[in-house]
Amino acid sequence: MNSAFELNREKCICCSCYVDTCPMGDVTTDDERYPVFQGVFCIYCHMYEITCPQQAITIHD
Ligand code: SF4
Ligand code: SF4
Repeated sequence: MNSAFELNREKCICCSCYVDTCPMGDVTTDDERYPVFQGVFCIYCHMYEITCPQQAITIHD
């Protein structure tokens, strides 16, 4: 988990909707289907912050 990404687990519904939409392929899911940001190829486009239906993501860059 990259510390630049803050996930609010109380809001997240584990829809995994952005695993396939990250343009850099930088997101996977854990065993509970919560998103895991690898922080390796991220270009800090803030796409998930914008598209998350639960507003569960904060990206610090
Ligand atoms: S898009 Fe939002 S609600 Fe869906 S898995 Fe990601 S953080 Fe959770
Ligand atoms: S900020 Fe953009 S590049 Fe980084 S993990 Fe999210 S969607 Fe992927």
